Amino acid sequence: MNRLLHRRHALLALAGLLPAACAEAQNQTQNPSQNASAPLLDLPAQPPAQGALVIGRTRPGSRVSLDGRAVSVAPDGRFAFGFGREAGPEAALTATAPDGRTETRRLSVAKRDWDIQRLNGLPPAMVSPDAKQLARINAERAKLAEIRKLDSPLTFFAEGFDWPARGRISGVYGSQRILNGEPRAPHLGLDVAVPTGTPCHTMGPGRVVLAEDLYFTGHTVLIDHGHGVVSLYAHLSAIDVRVGQMLPRGERLGATGATGRVTGPHLHLGLNWFATALDPQPLLPG
Ligand SMILES: [Zn+2]
Repeated sequence: MNRLLHRRHALLALAGLLPAACAEAQNQTQNPSQNASAPLLDLPAQPPAQGALVIGRTRPGSRVSLDGRAVSVAPDGRFAFGFGREAGPEAALTATAPDGRTETRRLSVAKRDWDIQRLNGLPPAMVSPDAKQLARINAERAKLAEIRKLDSPLTFFAEGFDWPARGRISGVYGSQRILNGEPRAPHLGLDVAVPTGTPCHTMGPGRVVLAEDLYFTGHTVLIDHGHGVVSLYAHLSAIDVRVGQMLPRGERLGATGATGRVTGPHLHLGLNWFATALDPQPLLPG
């Protein structure tokens, strides 16, 4: 299989289209009476890696859980789940059909290696905030945590994603960060080095669930793509959207900048499945 075709298959699998197409092809060659024993879970052929968003499909009306935690299923059977930086080595995905039949798939989560990123010259207050700044940071964390409980019925998560802005990748997901010589939490997003004022677009259709200035991430926009899948755009110089607004594919949401904790202008792109921070990069076109 050539690279392009492979890429196309990967994208189709990501969008949940390939498993469905395969299931259909299988059904055509099966005796319909055997359909009751057809697999309940359609998942991408490639095993997931740490940081992955996984789109699956099950029979409509089925219930799905990941390691015992309920996962919402759309009316057409599509669902999403994700694995964080520390996930693995295994996870169990279970589907229960309306007739009570249950299927469990044991997933191996591929381990990844992480970069070490050293950043120096940050303002000391950004590395070690004082008590007043901590109060603001904690209030903002609590607000983000609430937003990340949102389990909306939107299904844009299954329709593929685009780059919000194109530029050199200056920071990758998962890097261990050493700020002004002090070890800090890993970098859980993707940095694109673009000059201040570069148009920033939503990575997929969705609803604006936050649009405001935050301590670390500066002018920040969060877009809900459904079922707990939320993208984040940070350090913006301008925000063009408001909370509650529905954005079609490719809509401009603002302009990139250097607000919040930064050493220079760039877009920080984040993607969450509920509280779990995922890697947006594998979802974006090559
Ligand atoms: Zn970043």
